[in-house]
Amino acid sequence: MGKGVVTSSVGKMLQFRGFTVTAIKIDPYVNVDAGTMNPYVHGEIFVTEDGGETDLDLGWYERFLDINLSKENNITTGQIYQTVIERERKGDYLGKCVQIIPHITDEIKRRIRMVAEKSKADVVLTECGGTVGDIEGLPFLEAIRQMRLEEGYENTLYIHVALVPILDVTSEMKTKPLQHSVNELRRIGIQPDIIVSRCPKMITKEALEKIALFGTIPKEAVFCSYNVSTVYEVPLILDEQGMGDFICKRLGLTLKQINVSEIERWKNFVNTLKNCKYTIRVALVGKYTGLVDSYVSMNEAFKHAGAACNTRVIIDYIEAEMFEENPEKVAMLKDYDGIFVPYGFGQRGAIGKMMAIQFARENGIPFLGICFGFQLAVIDFARNVCGLKDANSTEIDEKTPHPVIDLMPEQQQVTYKGATMRLGAHKIIIKKGTIAHKLYNATEVYERHRHRYEVNPEYTEILEKHGLVFSGRSPDGRRMEILELPDKFFFLASQFHGEFKSRPGRPSPIYYGFVKACLDRKLGKPKPEF
Ligand code: GLN
Repeated sequence: MGKGVVTSSVGKMLQFRGFTVTAIKIDPYVNVDAGTMNPYVHGEIFVTEDGGETDLDLGWYERFLDINLSKENNITTGQIYQTVIERERKGDYLGKCVQIIPHITDEIKRRIRMVAEKSKADVVLTECGGTVGDIEGLPFLEAIRQMRLEEGYENTLYIHVALVPILDVTSEMKTKPLQHSVNELRRIGIQPDIIVSRCPKMITKEALEKIALFGTIPKEAVFCSYNVSTVYEVPLILDEQGMGDFICKRLGLTLKQINVSEIERWKNFVNTLKNCKYTIRVALVGKYTGLVDSYVSMNEAFKHAGAACNTRVIIDYIEAEMFEENPEKVAMLKDYDGIFVPYGFGQRGAIGKMMAIQFARENGIPFLGICFGFQLAVIDFARNVCGLKDANSTEIDEKTPHPVIDLMPEQQQVTYKGATMRLGAHKIIIKKGTIAHKLYNATEVYERHRHRYEVNPEYTEILEKHGLVFSGRSPDGRRMEILELPDKFFFLASQFHGEFKSRPGRPSPIYYGFVKACLDRKLGKPKPEF
């Protein structure tokens, strides 16, 4: 419904006014973190610098607010109960009956306050996932209700985001669902201060008045997040409606100094996105293609990279298994400006992705691979260039004669699945004179990771002898982080996820390189100009 974008936009409007913000996402599910969830159902798992496997909304906060968040910025029911139960077992509550109120709600508030204190932000945005009325969400809403009592009315502000659908038949804007959710909120003791209606179009005056009346708030406190061509425009349209000023007034935030340069920067970025001179078409060959949210950070990274090249990047989602079933269909990839193979897990679709990689390599089409895409590029090269028959990853075939991709040594004994991958930011040493070096313009960078398997060091020599260059490695030289084929127009892949650090105006260097290469090839240049 767009709560993540509304939350991020509120933060952005406060930043426009010179205030510092941080953001917390509350996920009422019982999982301790998002790491064990299927991206095909839940959407992408966003990875923070400190290795948190979090809800994808943290990605929106980071991209909009240009701040790095921590795993502590994503609170789940699992974490809350784990802490409270551990405490109970230690005897911290000896003699007491441990209850949802106050023990669970106290732990929720403690975690929110901890983020507030550590960040020292002027405003802490706390988004509660799910819908009013969800059983799972109740303890969190109760904690939020108590927060007002403890922190004071003037220091707390409730924003309710609700859907206002437009009926097909009559084109009428219906505020009924919103009226019901406001009632549901009131029933548990929360009266919203602001209502943001999520509607395909700007709400009519009548709808706005109805929302104010039934929501018991002034008309000035009703805003509309209508459909825009890019989500980065949402803070601008809400600000135009007066939401930024309203929030500051209500919270008694005396204007520091309008951050004119940030407003300009943001507006320019939005304008660039909307008016790109060029267009390229990229084939994303993956296995979670039915759910666009599984690749949300990647999509956004392409937008950031595209804006930097004045290029609109159109992504076609192609289900990798289609190539396995109909090998002749791989030829359709020749019509694309670039081929992209994203992250992934397990066997399904692996062969199809590899067919796409081989096609890119053999036909000189720009290629970018991320994580699993990197690993599969190594396998394709081992099989089809180095002649290592049946080379594979032990994730796909445990008995392969050539395990070019294998479990990392420290992973061999790991059976526990929660938060045990290689996670978060790690240092990478970039080899001078390579494409990666050109793109990063640095020899030491940090990028975020999420994987269990890696290039088997026993095979790096033979791979490099055949022309593959590992242009990025871990500081001890043992882990391969970036590969490239220098004799190709652009063929690069990374073990890490550049998309997690990509921001408007500061694109991920590898995504930028790929987009620029796709464009330059389309424009007929002999080689990409970075
Ligand atoms: N499945 C691979 C691994 O665990 C790749 C993971 C990924 O693409 N994020 O190493």
